[in-house]
Amino acid sequence: MNAPTMLDPALASRFAEIVGERHALRDEAEIAPYTVEPRGLFGGPAALVLRPCTTEEVSRILGLASETGTPIVPQGGNTGLVGGQMPDSTGGEIVLSLSRMNRIREFDLSSNTVTAEAGVVLQTLQQEVAAKDRLFPLSLASEGSCQIGGNLSSNAGGIGALAYGTARDLCLGLEVVLPTGEILDDLRKLKKDNTGYDLKNLFIGAEGTLGVITAAVLKLFPKAKGRELAWAAVASPIAALRLFEAANDRAGNALTAFELMEQTPLNFVLKHMPASKPPFAKSYLWHVMIEVSSGRSAEDAQSLMEEILGQGLEKGWVADAVIAQTVAQAAQLRRLREGMSEAQKMEGGSIKHDVSVPVAAIPEFIARAGKVAQEVLPGCRVVCFGHMGDGNLHYNVSQPVGMDKAVFLSHYKAMNEAVHAVVRTFGGSFSAEHGIGRLKREELVATQPAIATDLMRRLKQTLDPKGIMNPGKVI
Ligand code: ZN
Repeated sequence: MNAPTMLDPALASRFAEIVGERHALRDEAEIAPYTVEPRGLFGGPAALVLRPCTTEEVSRILGLASETGTPIVPQGGNTGLVGGQMPDSTGGEIVLSLSRMNRIREFDLSSNTVTAEAGVVLQTLQQEVAAKDRLFPLSLASEGSCQIGGNLSSNAGGIGALAYGTARDLCLGLEVVLPTGEILDDLRKLKKDNTGYDLKNLFIGAEGTLGVITAAVLKLFPKAKGRELAWAAVASPIAALRLFEAANDRAGNALTAFELMEQTPLNFVLKHMPASKPPFAKSYLWHVMIEVSSGRSAEDAQSLMEEILGQGLEKGWVADAVIAQTVAQAAQLRRLREGMSEAQKMEGGSIKHDVSVPVAAIPEFIARAGKVAQEVLPGCRVVCFGHMGDGNLHYNVSQPVGMDKAVFLSHYKAMNEAVHAVVRTFGGSFSAEHGIGRLKREELVATQPAIATDLMRRLKQTLDPKGIMNPGKVI
């Protein structure tokens, strides 16, 4: 059975010819996985899914799309949380899957770089790099299926951003196919390069609206010689902030994670993830997960961690703490943090906020956002966790126990507006690490300075005059 299509069959055949019939999916069942996303909020039928294998093929696809005005939706591992990788409901868009472009083209260990194609799965890259005794520090809950092209297109963040930056900071060069089909080969390995405008940074974080990233030069780092992971109960978000400052002061760049979470999401994980164990016998309101990585030795990492926690206990910021004694224990603690999004799903409807504020403002943000959330919907359960060291919180709200899910979700917009208004008072961002996609497009236009959105539109018009690249996303 064929998918509903507005695409002329003769034109579909011209597209299919470029990649070969086997890699041009038209059957509804084959297309289905490309048209649903993790949250189930977006998605529609696609006219065709094309799976090119080379940059040349991508170039020919976009050239034809440009000539015929056919909309193209680039897609990586399909783990995006804002609908940026989804076709619309018209059935006339083509999904361009980069999955088959999954080669690692080159390691350059003297320059500490790897050149990888867009479809390389993040975890595969991490493993290949580790086998060369190096580290690629981007780390996300979805790393088993997300892909490098998508990571760059959405400027992914995650836990490691604290020490190593976001995907943008990890990229030295790009190969991009422009909407016209032209290829911009900018696969340079240079840390220092001031040759005019920084074009690659236009495409990073653009969510596939300005062109298609087909390959990238990524930075590698030395593997840590010692790593320590600790879980600590803290008295309050202010105590967590003081502990973060102390950890930063002691460990500097060796502080590779500092995560903050409430007891509520931890309870969800303990309740819904079968093998999970509580870190402490007692229940506490607030927790942090700290990771220290030493370039020198295991002993160095250990003593840094002991100093940080020792100071925390002495000052009364830390109520209880546990340092992982084995790799397996560290993995167990990590899973408590990483399982929070998944476990929250089991508690019914969830209203999400992916926000960032200056680190120093986190305690006050939490206090004020908690108040407005209860004003919008008394009894709602705030599920706050995130990357404290980056000022980035996943400030989610679960439905009150027993409430109808649809009734709860009818408060989505009001809740978003109230929480984001608090974010703005701190000069924060309502889109910290997940992007804009379709989910936040209207809000971007409504809340950002007119000159900024106008400039974005002018850039889009210049690079994509036919408007074929991922229409309806970002701007
Ligand atoms: Zn996150």
